[in-house]
Amino acid sequence: MIGHKHCPICETPASQGCAHLSLAVEAREFVKRCVERCQGQKQFRALCVERLRQRRRTGEWVPERDDFTWLETAFCEEFLKRLAWFGGIDFEWRTGPKPGQGGFWVLLWSKDPQRLWWDLRDEFERQIQKAHAGEAKADPRNQPEFRSVPP
Ligand SMILES: [Zn+2]
Repeated sequence: MIGHKHCPICETPASQGCAHLSLAVEAREFVKRCVERCQGQKQFRALCVERLRQRRRTGEWVPERDDFTWLETAFCEEFLKRLAWFGGIDFEWRTGPKPGQGGFWVLLWSKDPQRLWWDLRDEFERQIQKAHAGEAKADPRNQPEFRSVPP
């Protein structure tokens, strides 16, 4: 059947599930579920706020929602792909209980899903810190007399 995937690590059909299937969820739920699974809700929110602040300051156009907050491919580019425990993502068409209820599901693979989740939460934290550090360097007004928060 079209679009039926196998685990890239052990070749088990995705529909059967195996230890490497970190997440199988409808595409529109993907980002939310990843954030939940790594228990990084707080970090992720902080990161979104930080990104928004940066764009506003640089005068960049600000979309209503950043792509990575809802689009699985953008989230993957931004966060998952750089993780050592990331094993890949696949898309699979799955049918729902009634006709017309089918949808695209995202399958997330990892040799060790638990480590992948830990890694993801760390990545959020790393990016928050990077954003803070970049901000201090990039802003020419960031002279001590203009500093609004203590260093
Ligand atoms: Zn497997």
